[in-house]
Amino acid sequence: MPSQTTLSRRAPRRFWGWGQADATLDAREQATVKTLTEQLEVPWSERPVPQVHEFTLPPPRMAAPTALAAQFSAAPLDRLNHSAGKSYADLARMWLRTPPAPPDWVAYADDEQAVVDILDWAQAHNVAVIPYGGGSSVCGGVEAAVGESYAAVVSLDLERLNHVLEVDPVSRAARIQGGTLGPELQAQLKPHGLTLRHFPQSFEFSSLGGWIVTRAGGHYATQHTHIDDFVENTRLVTPAGVLQTRRLPASGAGPAPDRLVLGSEGTLGVLTEAWVRLQQPPRFRASASIRFSDYFAGADCVRALAQSGLNPSNCRLLDPLETVFSGVGDGRHAILVLGFESADHPLDAWLGRALELVRDHGGSYDAGAVARSLAAQGGDEHRSGAAGAWRDAFLRMPYWRDPAVGLGLVMDTFETATTWDRFASFYASIKADVGAAMERATGQEALISCRLTHVYPDGPAPYFTLIARGDAQGSVASALAAWRDIKQAATAAVIHHGGTVTHHHAVGRDHRSGYEQEVPPLLRQMLAAAKQVADPTGIMNPGVLIDPVGRSVGIRGGHGCAGPRTESLGQNSALAHVNIA
Ligand SMILES: Cc1cc2nc3c(=O)[nH]c(=O)nc-3n(C[C@H](O)[C@H](O)[C@H](O)COP(=O)(O)OP(=O)(O)OC[C@H]3O[C@@H](n4cnc5c(N)ncnc54)[C@H](O)[C@@H]3O)c2cc1C
Repeated sequence: MPSQTTLSRRAPRRFWGWGQADATLDAREQATVKTLTEQLEVPWSERPVPQVHEFTLPPPRMAAPTALAAQFSAAPLDRLNHSAGKSYADLARMWLRTPPAPPDWVAYADDEQAVVDILDWAQAHNVAVIPYGGGSSVCGGVEAAVGESYAAVVSLDLERLNHVLEVDPVSRAARIQGGTLGPELQAQLKPHGLTLRHFPQSFEFSSLGGWIVTRAGGHYATQHTHIDDFVENTRLVTPAGVLQTRRLPASGAGPAPDRLVLGSEGTLGVLTEAWVRLQQPPRFRASASIRFSDYFAGADCVRALAQSGLNPSNCRLLDPLETVFSGVGDGRHAILVLGFESADHPLDAWLGRALELVRDHGGSYDAGAVARSLAAQGGDEHRSGAAGAWRDAFLRMPYWRDPAVGLGLVMDTFETATTWDRFASFYASIKADVGAAMERATGQEALISCRLTHVYPDGPAPYFTLIARGDAQGSVASALAAWRDIKQAATAAVIHHGGTVTHHHAVGRDHRSGYEQEVPPLLRQMLAAAKQVADPTGIMNPGVLIDPVGRSVGIRGGHGCAGPRTESLGQNSALAHVNIA
């Protein structure tokens, strides 16, 4: 009889939402949820949150390996926590008490040797393995949806591989284990006076390994946008052996090996360690909050900033509705949150030149607030004003999304990237297509907003937020059904109008239909061949990115719904033949 007690050594997490089990909302956040339900005309009530005892889980289909049994858990809380990530649909299914099939076992590997042993055992017994970092995937990346051809599924949790192992202060880099969560990594680097400074919104509950294999996007709006920019080398335990790349600042020796690991999403192996580039914490910060009465004038200004070489650390353009969602505006203007940071030099010249560009594009700002920000560059001034308010709202949003989902609201985001020459029509088309799908699915006017999260000299990464209801009774089932239609429409729209299916949320299982249309079939064949070498029996995260050769897991366009039809891997037909449903 497996133990009913969790083997996790971390503070208990909510299996049905974000944060730790005892997370609470403050009065203002509760009021926000109430206001939203009023606006969408959904009844507000305290709904009982899901409890572990309400879920009946099937017993594990096979025994845990005897030699590793102490690291294997079938405790219901562990299995529930590892049955899904944290997307809207993951949470809705928990509120409905209909979670996806849980993994048979959760393995808490003690160390890298345990990872090797677990993969050996899994290969020998036809067991699918799903690497698990923080479990914050929003695209079905950690779900045990592996098809019918496996004897069992193990979720391989890396939480015990959570140490900074070595720091090289001269080159300013550190060797860090893959399971280390953001705050753990930050705390262990602090005594060395160094920091990674990669802050995704999910920082609290996501891991270095997860960031690297999903190519996560951090808080830097320009220059070091993805974790890719900080990776010096990687160490991947694959079923076929260990793939360790060399520590080098750069190399022109053939295709870059780390590029295959970045974005591999657990399909090639388990990232146990990486050397990453560090920085000194910033001593100087300066910011401004800029209003534009015309959103596209704001976008032109952001393009000028992105092409200026000034490299602001924050350059987030919020459209009018997004300013309301973020609590920094009243919906009448677009707002640009602009910021610079440096460990080395005061930022007067950088912010000064950026504000010239702002004025050239018709932006207005409070000159007094800018002067105060510049005067207090070494202090905490950056925490106040629109920049501070935006940051706080940004970090707290996942917490108040939980009760909103339980009240039958759809709250979801999707992100993409496109080139500047197409941006204006892209933005309008996405809002029109997805807005129409929302209205069809919900019978209400669409609430869809956008911010530019990252910007490049050749294009922005627009990040859309949508809020809707399923029906007037606040049914979570109706909301989930509406979400499926909206999600399919969003995936089809970003591909159709020339964007990517994901700028930083990864492909997982839910974005596969878009991914198959976005990348050339030949590339997928090459990936499948690489996977066959690293993972000859196809046990690593089946169904993510590509199907293992000889197994058909299939694609989907959103949890539980079939994706748009694409040509199968191996056919070299033109993308023009792809039918976007
Ligand atoms: C509220 C919220 C905010 C978010 N904000 C951001 C954001 O700002 N930027 C961003 O990029 N993403 C964001 N995400 C998405 C998510 O946090 C990222 O994809 C993150 O990189 C996942 O890290 P993780 O450790 O939680 O990985 P998991 O969710 O545990 O896993 C994600 C994928 O990586 C694989 N994997 C995990 N660890 C390893 C490993 N060590 N070796 C091999 N494979 C592994 C898993 O099998 C899975 O396919 C957000 C998600 C939520 C819920």
